[in-house]
Amino acid sequence: MRYPKPFQNLIAHFSALPSVGPKMAERIVLHLFKQEHERLLSFAESLEALQDLSLCTRCFHIAEGPLCDVCSDPKRDPSVLCVVEEPMDVIAIERSGGYQGLYHVLGGVMRTGQGDDPSLRIPELLSRIATEDVKEVILALNPTTEGDLTTLYLRKKLEPLGVTVSRPARGLSTGGDIEYADEATLTSALRNREKLG
Ligand SMILES: [Zn+2]
Repeated sequence: MRYPKPFQNLIAHFSALPSVGPKMAERIVLHLFKQEHERLLSFAESLEALQDLSLCTRCFHIAEGPLCDVCSDPKRDPSVLCVVEEPMDVIAIERSGGYQGLYHVLGGVMRTGQGDDPSLRIPELLSRIATEDVKEVILALNPTTEGDLTTLYLRKKLEPLGVTVSRPARGLSTGGDIEYADEATLTSALRNREKLG
């Protein structure tokens, strides 16, 4: 005895999500099945609305138009770029409220250390430095082995370009991932950033 096809399809979709196993997916779909029609409809509409979002053409954060809210804000300081791994890091830093510069979302970190990883937006970062008025680049990658490797790699690429390269103060690095850091820690780590090189 199997679940009807639409049920099986949904279980497969949820099982493919990060940290959701098949049993959990089954429970989620059963839970959804018991919901009222309006709630399901609103859930479906929210999923569909994801398609209207895209990545900012400048910094690759999530955007509702060609540019994200940060890039289209004229009050931001375009001379400072904070390089992060994922959009959730931008959200975390924005929530802390202590940063006024712009961002560059790399899309991950280097996995091997073997040359350029084509999935990372390193060429786009270098081209922004060539065309925009950037004076400082803050490398705010997570303090993992791959994060540190990528920081080292980017530092070597950026230093000849005449920009100041820095990273958040060590307090953050020993405290773990950016997305989990509290607001005060993030603000002080960025304010007390250390110059590399
Ligand atoms: Zn942007």
